[in-house]
Amino acid sequence: MTPPASRADCEACDARDPLARIRDEFLIKPGVIYLDGNSLGALTRDSVARTRTMLEEQWGPDLISSWNVHGWFDLPHRLGAKIAPLIGAAADEVLVADSTSVNLFKLASAAMMTRGARHRILTESGNFPTDIYVLQGLAALSGGAIEIITVPRSEVAARIDDATFLVVLTHVHYKTAELFDLQAITERAHAQGARILWDLSHSVGALAVDIGAAQAEFAVGCTYKYLNGGPGSPAFLYVRRDLQDAIRPGLAAWMGHAAPFDFTDDYDPAPGMARYRSGTPSLLAFAALDGALGIWDHIDLRDVRRKSEVLSELFIARVEALPGSGLVLASPREAARRGSHVALTHPRGYELMQALIARGVIGDFRAPDIVRFGFAPLYLRYIDVWEAVTILGEVLAGPLDHAEIGRSAVT
Ligand SMILES: *Cc1c(COP(=O)(O)O)cnc(C)c1O
Repeated sequence: MTPPASRADCEACDARDPLARIRDEFLIKPGVIYLDGNSLGALTRDSVARTRTMLEEQWGPDLISSWNVHGWFDLPHRLGAKIAPLIGAAADEVLVADSTSVNLFKLASAAMMTRGARHRILTESGNFPTDIYVLQGLAALSGGAIEIITVPRSEVAARIDDATFLVVLTHVHYKTAELFDLQAITERAHAQGARILWDLSHSVGALAVDIGAAQAEFAVGCTYKYLNGGPGSPAFLYVRRDLQDAIRPGLAAWMGHAAPFDFTDDYDPAPGMARYRSGTPSLLAFAALDGALGIWDHIDLRDVRRKSEVLSELFIARVEALPGSGLVLASPREAARRGSHVALTHPRGYELMQALIARGVIGDFRAPDIVRFGFAPLYLRYIDVWEAVTILGEVLAGPLDHAEIGRSAVT
């Protein structure tokens, strides 16, 4: 794929972009080029409308009866069904609940309780910290009955063995955007008799995932990244249908009970995905997410992936053409091996990102020296990416010192 080679080419690409009209569904401040949609997606008009509806037309007038009359109780399942096609799952295999961290715990603990004679969970060193910490916490909770091993990416496939009961991997790496071959690694885990849990946080909404074809047991992921659910919007979890009733989450709570309103003393898990619920969900956050998910009804993920690849290629090609920039690509050069963001290292990465943000180009910085730029195809234009690199070149041509001021703890 050849990226556009000029401003005019970018304008032509925007004019024939099948996703171009989707940008109008978002509220994006003029003058801002938002390249951080991989971390926190942009606000949709429907998120505003749905939240307002829940506040003014549901909670306000109908109070507690809203749980039934406005279908609040089933919202976690209805939103799960909307996410299901984006990851190749069936509608009754996905639930929206809690955070990605909590869902990881629920599923890894369920796997632990049904592990047989095996005692090991394998994950990648350098995986997103919460994934590793949740597993380490689980090992501590097990009183030493299980162990967590972290191995470099190149060794992951070979190190899955007959002591491994669960493999936990992130499909698109949060720093480098490098992709795992989901199908191949899942097959490898299964060949060794291990189950697998995929973290799809940086995948869902950026590229088509087919968790069903791979027959993976478990998946989790965020909805506030490419799904634009809003800051801290509830996460999703997937459990392959044949396992749903065979296992139970280590976090047992009342809304996952077979008959929550019987208020009995003994826990009896609900059938299907309902047992993976915990307590009362944060309903206003569900309203915002509900609004953001409506967009996907009319979108072909192949268009999304194609645009994401061209935007990223355009960005990388133009960055490579900047003379003496000091920027080094930290993501795979080959589009097929990347998710939808691009990481670069720069010795003064923090100051560089601050200077870019001051110019309206918003990406992020990850210590010690990585600057990340995300390409969310639903609301970014080709011309935005062209402009962003023009501004990057201008910033690099000037002094970076003034950006030291105002250094914050937020990374
Ligand atoms: C963003 C992200 C998370 C976030 O987890 P939270 O519980 O929502 O804070 C988890 N895993 C990966 C791989 C991520 O990229």
